[in-house]
Amino acid sequence: MKEKKTVSFSKNSTNIFFHILTNCNLNCLHCYINKKQHGNTTLSIDIIKAWLDAFAAKSKIANVVFLGGEPTLHPDLSQAVKYAIKIGYKSVTVDTNGYLFNEFLSKIEPKDIDYISFSLDGATSTTNDKIRGKGSYDKCVSGIKSSVSKGFNTSLIYTVSSANIDELAKMEPLLSDLKIGRFFIQVIGIRGKTAKGTSVEGVNNPQVLREKWVDTIPIIAEKIAEHGIIVTYPKVFLEPDDKFECAGLVADNYFIFPNKRVYRCPLCEDYPIHGMEFSGNELVQTAKINETDLFKLSIPEGCVMNKLIQPGNLSYNPDGSPEYKIACCLLKEEIRKS
Ligand code: SF4
Ligand code: SF4
Repeated sequence: MKEKKTVSFSKNSTNIFFHILTNCNLNCLHCYINKKQHGNTTLSIDIIKAWLDAFAAKSKIANVVFLGGEPTLHPDLSQAVKYAIKIGYKSVTVDTNGYLFNEFLSKIEPKDIDYISFSLDGATSTTNDKIRGKGSYDKCVSGIKSSVSKGFNTSLIYTVSSANIDELAKMEPLLSDLKIGRFFIQVIGIRGKTAKGTSVEGVNNPQVLREKWVDTIPIIAEKIAEHGIIVTYPKVFLEPDDKFECAGLVADNYFIFPNKRVYRCPLCEDYPIHGMEFSGNELVQTAKINETDLFKLSIPEGCVMNKLIQPGNLSYNPDGSPEYKIACCLLKEEIRKS
């Protein structure tokens, strides 16, 4: 038996995506980091702790994900992880490209962290390395094996684009062999490099069209979940009966960057329209107009930011009405074996 559910938005659960630096050893074709907008600072451990403290009042309901750039390039990442647990965060995850710098795995224990999440964008080195760089597949697989052998809960993120969707099915045996506990399928966003027109593997628009997405992703996700792996994927395309909701209005997410910007919506990150920022170490609202003004706009296409920055996934009827709505990019389906 498998249980499939849409992970509903809630103000009673807080998700903090904490970019502690923007530097990275890789140069992936679809990298969303935009140093012009996010800076190139590496936060000190004192500032990381102070910004984690800013959410202390809700830490019991807060999940924090440390990311970058490549967060293991930060020499004090292990301290940040342990501090988040110490002050009561509900869960702590580190997203890594697998290079695991600074001997990160030897500085923490499985009890210190909920998940270490690795990024791989192909089931083979041929596909992955064209997107993420030569040698990155082998390095990531080796990092996963170390993580699993040391007893860490290990998950994997696969960012789907038209350059690698046809290889997703091959992940089924690989995930089982690697003993991955959770598999996150992401969808490519037109942000960072892709927004500047960098082609992903020779494909100028890496977005996946609706028919291909709905005919591929849910079916492969079900098959992978058969192996006892929890699979999460973004809904992307809403069915006519599905309700559209903007997470910026009905959820409690924070995307923190080292230049003090704090966004509530990841699709806004290429623009200086962040709704919050750190002033000193205090989290404050920014002046209007900002992203929060966009969240309130109601359009027949669903997500307003999708229409503004990545409309290549929309399709219209002859009368000009949209054929379907685009979901909030944060709306996920989750499948697990019950
Ligand atoms: S590993 Fe992540 S941060 Fe580094 S280049 Fe790739 S997408 Fe960007
Ligand atoms: S992706 Fe769209 S629907 Fe989701 S928070 Fe951003 S603007 Fe709102």
